[in-house]
Amino acid sequence: MNSDALAPWAAHPQRSRGRRIAEPLPAPRSEHQRDRDRIVHSSAFRRLVYKTQVFVNHEGDLFRTRLTHSLEVAQVARSAARALRLNEDLVEAIALAHDLGHTPFGHAGQDALDACMREHGGFEHNLQSLRVVDRLEQRYLAFDGLNLTHETREGILKRCSRAQAERLLRSEPDGPARRFVQGTQPGLEAQLVNLADEVAYSTHDSDDGVRSGLLTVEQLRTVALFAHFHDQALQAAGRGFDDPDGKRVLAETLRRMLAALIADLVGATAAALERQQPTDADALRALAPMARFSDEMRARIGELERFLLHALYRHPQVLHNTALGREVIAELYAAYHSDPGQMSAEFAAASAGDRARAAADYVAGMTDRFALREHERLTGRRLFAA
Ligand code: MG
Repeated sequence: MNSDALAPWAAHPQRSRGRRIAEPLPAPRSEHQRDRDRIVHSSAFRRLVYKTQVFVNHEGDLFRTRLTHSLEVAQVARSAARALRLNEDLVEAIALAHDLGHTPFGHAGQDALDACMREHGGFEHNLQSLRVVDRLEQRYLAFDGLNLTHETREGILKRCSRAQAERLLRSEPDGPARRFVQGTQPGLEAQLVNLADEVAYSTHDSDDGVRSGLLTVEQLRTVALFAHFHDQALQAAGRGFDDPDGKRVLAETLRRMLAALIADLVGATAAALERQQPTDADALRALAPMARFSDEMRARIGELERFLLHALYRHPQVLHNTALGREVIAELYAAYHSDPGQMSAEFAAASAGDRARAAADYVAGMTDRFALREHERLTGRRLFAA
């Protein structure tokens, strides 16, 4: 995008705070296009294809994985960013990288690994995403990691406890952890991706929930937001519309809901910007969060998310699989921690410095199916029926 067309509070690539290790300009690309390209070519990005979003990877080929989730977040964020005249390349880079630190088996995997690491600094997927792009990717001769710009790293470090922030600041006093100590916001592109994540998962998890058979459309209709667009879709289809399994009406419902969520996000954010008129991106960082939904939409999304939590994420079948996932993670960690030679050479070597962290990094980077294969190799037990 021509940077003259960017809003004053957007992240203008030529005003980037740059990379930790200076590099020549990436012309004809912008700095943030280069970040996006580095993320797409990383091995952690490719591994997202076999990582759980809600459904464990082998449950079916048609459900969202971390990779398709990340692509949907990027689509939502870019649509909103273009309408708001923000830096689309930066939102795309942040969106594609935002889940790189997730363990196999989704949040259950993270919780299990965090429990294993309790005495060793814990494990948190946002911090791990930053660790992946800063250190664990090994593709360049001159540095560890991808050496991304400050703006992209700031967006990737979405959450961080005060204690963790202080630890990160010891090695990088001006780094992206600083805002958690100062109490300021990230740039608007990062704020936007955060909400695009919510838009994407609340829509696509509704879809996967129905298609998996764990949710019914009737259950979803107890949620006002869904019922509103489902009524619209039924009406548009008309009586006698040939849709025996309700697939096309469901798709129409969710398409309308997605469009409305993005339009609301753009409208409410534009109105907040209009009131505050920050002079530039740094002035915006000092203000309250600017990316937002309208109050009414915020309440409706909250209702949908609570529904998904109870009806889908805590569905007995999902819980059964996540409990198995937790067991796999804990036993893999224990096995590598007691015998680092079982890991690949790179991580076995790293374990000489910090044995616990090397095991956690190795386990966190795995795909669901590699984790299951390794678990079977190391324990002789097969927890999931293939
Ligand atoms: Mg996400």
